[in-house]
Amino acid sequence: MAHDLDLFVIGAGSAGVRAARFAANFGARVAVAEDRDLGGTCVNLGCVPKKMFVYGASYADDFAQAASYGWSVDDPAFEWSTLLANKNREIARLNGIYDSILQKAGARLIRGRARIVGPHAVEVAGERVTADNILVATGCRPLRPDIPGAELGIVSDDVFHLPELPRRALVVGGGYIAVELASVFRGLGVDVVQIYRRELFMRGFDDGIREHLRDQLRLKGLDLRFNTDLTRIERQNDGALLAHLNTGETLTTDCVLFATGRGPTETDLGLDTTRATRDAHGFVEVDDHYRTAEPSIYAVGDLIGRAQLTPVALAEGMAVARHLFRPSEYAPVDYELIPTAVFSLPNVGTVGLGEQDAVRRGHRIEVYESRFKPLKLTLTDAKESCLLKLVVDADDNRVLGAHMVGADAGEIIQGLAVALKAGATKRQFDETIAIHPTTAEEFVTMR
Ligand code: NDP
Repeated sequence: MAHDLDLFVIGAGSAGVRAARFAANFGARVAVAEDRDLGGTCVNLGCVPKKMFVYGASYADDFAQAASYGWSVDDPAFEWSTLLANKNREIARLNGIYDSILQKAGARLIRGRARIVGPHAVEVAGERVTADNILVATGCRPLRPDIPGAELGIVSDDVFHLPELPRRALVVGGGYIAVELASVFRGLGVDVVQIYRRELFMRGFDDGIREHLRDQLRLKGLDLRFNTDLTRIERQNDGALLAHLNTGETLTTDCVLFATGRGPTETDLGLDTTRATRDAHGFVEVDDHYRTAEPSIYAVGDLIGRAQLTPVALAEGMAVARHLFRPSEYAPVDYELIPTAVFSLPNVGTVGLGEQDAVRRGHRIEVYESRFKPLKLTLTDAKESCLLKLVVDADDNRVLGAHMVGADAGEIIQGLAVALKAGATKRQFDETIAIHPTTAEEFVTMR
């Protein structure tokens, strides 16, 4: 039976819009359903507004250091409502850009919550639409631990619309979101306690990087506590929150932020009425072409839980569009050597294997490290130092991993990711002429 469309996309986030736009450009008849703001997590409740907050928070150091360069900066004051309003204005502009991207490509946008009602059918906004293929790109939502009083805490989504900046905050978790938002709060003057349930946060990153980040964050005044978890929250008579910790201590705070992971929490998608399957965490299972066990239904982005990163979602959305409508241009997404940055203050940037992972994978390695006070701070009394690290295969001299804690780590590692992707050796790093004086030059001068 002929269907109304070639592709119906559920979710206009990074992955969904990318797939819809390219499929439509390839000549497919496409519709996209979205019931929230266009652009998904990245644009509205993630990468973009978060980075704006990080920029906002980083001025604290700039003001503190400016005096050493001869500037007098009298009593700088911060106004949360200004940052929020300006952020909201820019995000609204980006929402509009997503709208016009879809329009220009000729993909139809349907405002509403879509529900799959068959392998080729979706109901949305009172309409039943049929399509040869359905692509689910509905992303993930922040998860809360199951503890008494959890509803008194907030999640990252809420941070982007907080009416007021809290005076004190307790951040729970030790992943990307926890360290980024703890840094944002700290930079904006909040008294922050961050707790993490195991020995050391940022699990999965190189151990040296994790330790260095821990020390730098503490220098910034973050009260970081490990082997510590939250067991219960209570609201006190004065409105403050009382957090009970597994250590037996209690802590009074104005805000508990759960940054304890993100997962697929949607229950009304209708996907579970099809043959599509999920893993133990609820992530949708797909094959190499992002096809679920229901052959006409595909899934991409955070919902499949491979790497919850915008550029990966974009690549997956593109792969589906090409696989279905332009197979001659199809290339599978390469999940090796995905560079990432954590926009804590200071930033972390990483690509490839950390020291411990390299050894675990059976490599014989050489490790090169450089730890120093960046030139910009030498005139100031800041105690901060940066760490740059290369993990090299001792047998074939290939650089297996490049890691950094320090200003602009994301910007620097992005460039190095190209070198690693091209299979660069340590010798080639050494033969590369440095740009002096920079922090990044240490990557080509470490011996
Ligand atoms: P992560 O998976 O990175 O971290 C979750 C943290 O919460 C871990 O430290 C985890 O501990 C801890 N945790 C999980 N469950 C509990 C619990 N019940 N009680 C206490 N602690 C708990 O998730 P995030 O929410 O930080 O971010 C989600 C994903 O979004 C990231 O993995 C990343 O892919 C992406 N992201 C990327 C960013 C970037 O590129 N800059 C920025 C923000 C997010 P444990 O280690 O013990 O499991």
